[in-house]
Amino acid sequence: MNMRTAGIHHITAFVTDAQRNVDFYAGVLGLRLVKKTINFDAPEVYHLYFGNEAGSPGTAITFFPWATARRGRIGGGQVGTTVFAVPVGTLGFWRDRLTKLNVAYTQTERFGETYIRFQDWDGLQLEIVEREAGPASEWAFGGVPADKAIKGFGGAELNSFAPDKTMDLLERVMGLTKVGKEGEWVRYRSFGDLGNIIDINHTPMGWGAGGAGTVHHIAWRAKDEEEHRRWREYIAQSGFQPTPVVDRQYFNALYFREQGGILFEIASDTPGFARDEPFESLGEKLMLPGWLEDRRAEVEQGLPPIEVRTLEADVR
Ligand code: ZN
Repeated sequence: MNMRTAGIHHITAFVTDAQRNVDFYAGVLGLRLVKKTINFDAPEVYHLYFGNEAGSPGTAITFFPWATARRGRIGGGQVGTTVFAVPVGTLGFWRDRLTKLNVAYTQTERFGETYIRFQDWDGLQLEIVEREAGPASEWAFGGVPADKAIKGFGGAELNSFAPDKTMDLLERVMGLTKVGKEGEWVRYRSFGDLGNIIDINHTPMGWGAGGAGTVHHIAWRAKDEEEHRRWREYIAQSGFQPTPVVDRQYFNALYFREQGGILFEIASDTPGFARDEPFESLGEKLMLPGWLEDRRAEVEQGLPPIEVRTLEADVR
């Protein structure tokens, strides 16, 4: 049996303040808050999903904001940098926008592409790159019109403490293709058109520490629940220890720790975020899984209020 993932499904990270998280990803980056729910394993913590208009697979960055979380340290066993793709010709717009909103950035080149590199307000490492591939976002917010909006993930940089093993996994199990090598970087590509370029540093890295400003896990796409079940068998046959399939309401999930220390998830493209609320009002209401619905008042009371808002500096 051989399987191939289309690429990244979502990336999940830890941050501190929930409102600041919304202000950065909706207010600065112009993404749509497509789902406001709670951490199913810890209902006193939000789980916020940001993406294109629908939070399509390959566009969704998700967060567990915890006000008093300790700061993590980016290092081995993590996604080091999350890369967003924007339409060709819009990098100047993004440079101006970050400047206007006081987000410091640097510029860097890899594999002939120019990247703007910056951090969110919790220190999470991000980049923006122009890409031809991938449908344009249909979401416009604040000062970000749809034709300049982030389409979704360009990909990610992986920090592994055993890069040979991680690279072998990407190629042999996840079905990515090695497409280049430049300096410290080896580049892999999946067949999808977003979240499809993975760069891995071939120098082994020392352990990072989980916490605010670091990625918790990277999820890879399975086409549907049926393919997801086959992925679980396949991952187990390939020598890894996948968790049982977990129902995450908007997708099915399974997790395994790869040998370079990075937590991988496989997530199904179906059923998606419009499962429990209409497309038009995605992200507006706090959505709870059925088994928590009768505790709604109590759950809501334990969460800080948040709102999607245009930043003051954006209207000046
Ligand atoms: Zn996940």
